[in-house]
Amino acid sequence: MPEENCTHNCSTCPSHQNGNCGANETDKAIAEQLAKIKNKIVVLSGKGGVGKSTVAVNLAIALALNGFKTGLLDVDLHGPSIPTMLGLQNVQPEVDGKGQILPIQIYGLEVISVAFFLPNQDDPVIWRGPLKQGAMQQFLGDVEWGDLDYLVIDCPPGTGDEPLGICQLVADRKALIVTTPQEVAAADVRRSVNFCKKLDMEILGVIENMSGFVCPHCHEITYIFNRGGGEKLAKDMNIPFLGRIPIETAVGETSDAGKPFIAATPSSESAKAFAEIVDKLIAR
Ligand code: ADP
Repeated sequence: MPEENCTHNCSTCPSHQNGNCGANETDKAIAEQLAKIKNKIVVLSGKGGVGKSTVAVNLAIALALNGFKTGLLDVDLHGPSIPTMLGLQNVQPEVDGKGQILPIQIYGLEVISVAFFLPNQDDPVIWRGPLKQGAMQQFLGDVEWGDLDYLVIDCPPGTGDEPLGICQLVADRKALIVTTPQEVAAADVRRSVNFCKKLDMEILGVIENMSGFVCPHCHEITYIFNRGGGEKLAKDMNIPFLGRIPIETAVGETSDAGKPFIAATPSSESAKAFAEIVDKLIAR
């Protein structure tokens, strides 16, 4: 099969099976790794700070807690926050005898982030498009992900190099979109939805994060922003709405402490809301 038509799905590709595969070595390595992963979920948001990485980390842990073999790939190259959220600030993955990178294991997850490869955690990544693409190819092809039920991929906000690159490299990926309830955030999300549509990418649904504030004393929820922006957007754009996660001090505190809320505070309002969202995703 000509390289440009490669779907990176060797298990169903006749050219791969009859030895006529025209893909280069990098493409073959990526295809081999991806063929062992059943579901690939790319977590997107229209803008930063809406809780996209929080959702990605907690989704991956929730899937692992539900008994699924799960990987978490952080391709937020300029602002990787997953190592902090998992308390993995100063780790370095090992390399096996075949030269494959072994993901870091924590909470039953396999994790890879660009931050693991920086000499200093505070070093900025100053890369243009081709270098970023090369890094993403390595994260897919040179990492020994093994057989996974789910790979959750955390992208930077917006529709730039990284979301585009990863979505082109992973043919059978599906998108999960995170927003906050305000109309201004929803406007940015429309671009993410249209990005998915242009790439022919199935959208699993929209999650509205920071939806109402849970009082730490009486547990009453106050809607400090507009309510229902995510749901309205989902309806307008004809995509599934998966649910709301409230603002809760436990979420920020546990994230900063490297202990995600789904594991650290399972009885919090956020964890209960999140568990319902995960159940819907698993059911699909
Ligand atoms: P993004 O990946 O969209 O930039 P993050 O996941 O890094 O956003 O979240 C930004 C900040 O908001 C983090 O400090 C995180 O702990 C906090 N946060 C996210 N969701 C919630 C929530 N539901 N309640 C309280 N704090 C939250």
